This record gives sequence, structure tokens and C-alpha cells, in this order.
Amino acid sequence: MEKINTKDDKMVIGIPRAMSFYNNYPFYYGFFTDLGIKIILSDITTKQTMSKGSSLVVTETCLPIKVFIGHVLNLIEKGVDKIFVPSIQSIAPKIYNCSKIRGLPDLVRNVVKKDFTIIEATLDKSEKNQGLYEFLTEIASYYGITDIERIKKASKAGWRTYNNFHIMSKSGMSYKKSMNYALQGKVFIENENKEFPISIALISHGYNIFDERTSMKVFDKLEAMDVRVYSSLRLSTEQMEDGIKTLGQDMYWANEYEMTGAAGHYLKDNKIDGIITITAFGCGPDSLMVERITRKAKHFNKPLLNLTIDEQTGEAGFITRLEAFVDMLFRKKRASIISKIDINNETSYIPNTNYIETK
Ligand code: SF4
Repeated sequence: MEKINTKDDKMVIGIPRAMSFYNNYPFYYGFFTDLGIKIILSDITTKQTMSKGSSLVVTETCLPIKVFIGHVLNLIEKGVDKIFVPSIQSIAPKIYNCSKIRGLPDLVRNVVKKDFTIIEATLDKSEKNQGLYEFLTEIASYYGITDIERIKKASKAGWRTYNNFHIMSKSGMSYKKSMNYALQGKVFIENENKEFPISIALISHGYNIFDERTSMKVFDKLEAMDVRVYSSLRLSTEQMEDGIKTLGQDMYWANEYEMTGAAGHYLKDNKIDGIITITAFGCGPDSLMVERITRKAKHFNKPLLNLTIDEQTGEAGFITRLEAFVDMLFRKKRASIISKIDINNETSYIPNTNYIETK
């Protein structure tokens, strides 16, 4: 691991590659870069990241929080002494994050007993004077930046990178590619030329599915099985709000867009053959949301697979469950194609389903 010493460099911030990083990094990148603050990211998640993070918290803590702690430790080991740990309480009036996300700076302070500065700020849109500008001003104040016009300009740069990222991911471009182009200030639209016989919607939080170690590269694995994978990143806010209504509930949790919003949308979408939810063991909000999704999936007659992950989840068992589910979807699709063939009409077109049978 390359060692750096940021003690003498005041304009540096360490960002853990975990939690809100997966949804908000394009914004953070644009914002901090415009302010002239150099970003140092923690290394990608490994087994050690998980085990080091797990060793500092109680067993029942959910995997994403253990991973976050592991990334904080990684930054400290690299020599970074200013680490960004936001407290994102609520993203809209009366729409809250779970208590672990809300109390993240306190949790880190209590379990990581090392010499470093937590760059913390609170975003709470349910309270007066704790909106985005207050949040950004609080962060900038650690660097002696108080000029509100400068902060607003940096915020615009953040939104530009964030919006570019979303334009590309909505077009079907992979998470990694969209992120790389957005950080370079580029925008491309990807054409989906390749045909996939099966489409699946993957329902989870960004930190569970875009972290390749935590998710065990689930996108690559499904694509290797000839499955096109859809996630919440393909949807607009309106589509997700409509999805939440489909599940017949008002939004309460901040990350419901990613879970019930996306699930509600894809349950109604005929091109989607099945739904996979991935949740972290010990996550209270997700278990409630998955319960609702499961009930509605029965109503829409959509096959559903629930996968729970923790640091002990073995890759072999994970792949077996994916394969069994995909196999079932192929069989179901084949049966539905055959049932549409009119056997009394000799001129009926019989589609080639060999590719399905070989699965
Ligand atoms: S929403 Fe669930 S998985 Fe995410 S931090 Fe909270 S408890 Fe953990």
C-alpha cells in the first residue's frame, strides 16, 4: 500500500469507497475538485477491509457499515488524516435514512480510536437550515472556505458531474463506465445492440451491488448467464415515485427509491422476466421493504429471488442460487413461447429455443 502523509497538506479529503460513495461520488468529485480540494479514495473492498471493519463493531451490525469502517481504517493506514463521514439524516421532509446512516460520524468516532479528523456535516431536509447549502458550507468550513458564491459554483460543478453520470447510466451504460466518463467530464450514450433472452431487475442499494467484492460481481455473473440486468440507475425519479405507489405505500425511508421504487416499476414492466433483491443481513428497513415487494411480486406473478449477504456469504452458494433462478426463468420463458404456438396450424412459426434448452 502506497503511504502518503496528508498532515501538512490542508486541501485534502479522504473519501471511503463505501455507503453514499456509490450514489453520490460524481457529485462529491465535482464539488471538491472545483474547490481545489484533492480527493484520496480508499482502496477497493477486499476480504481484509471487511474483516478489519467487522472486528470493531458488534456482530449484528449490517455488512455495509462494517465495510465503511474497514474503508476508514484503510485511509488511515494510507496516511490520510481528514476523512469525510457525512451524516445524511433526511433527504426530503419526513423521509429519513436508517439510524446507522444518520449516526455514522458518531459510530466512526466511537469505534475507530485513531488520530484523524472526521470531516462531518449534517444534511437534514426535515429540519430548517440543514439543507444542501448548509451541508456544503459546513464541509467547506473545514478548509477555511466561507465564500458562499464559491461554494455555490462548486455545487453546480458537482451537479454537472452527477447529472452526466445519470444520463449515461440511464442509457444502459454500466456503472463503472458511466462513472469513468463522468469523472473525465465526458458524456456518451450507449446503444444496446446485444440481444439477451432474459431480463432481470436487480433491486438493492448502490453500496450492495456496485461494490464488486460485496456483490461478488453480480452484474458480470448474470450477464455471463445471458441475462440483461436492470437496476434503479436506469429509472427517472418520476418512474420510481410511481413505483412506490404501485407498492401501495408512502415513502418513509430515504433509500426507498432504490428498493420499493425500482421494484414497483419493474414489477409492472413486461420486459422484465424476474426480480432479484439483495439485502444485507441485519437491515431492518430492507426486511420491511422486501416483505412488501414479495407480496406484490405474487400479485404480478413475477418470479422473485431474495438474497441476503453478510461477510460470511460464500461465492459458490451465491452463484448456485443465481443459476437456479435464471434456469427457472429460461424454462418459464420457453414454456410461454411453446404455449403460444398454434399446433393445428401447420404454417405456424416455431421459434428456435435451442439456446434456451442449453442453459
Ligand atoms: S439501510 Fe440497512 S443496510 Fe443500509 S446502513 Fe441502514 S441498516 Fe445497514
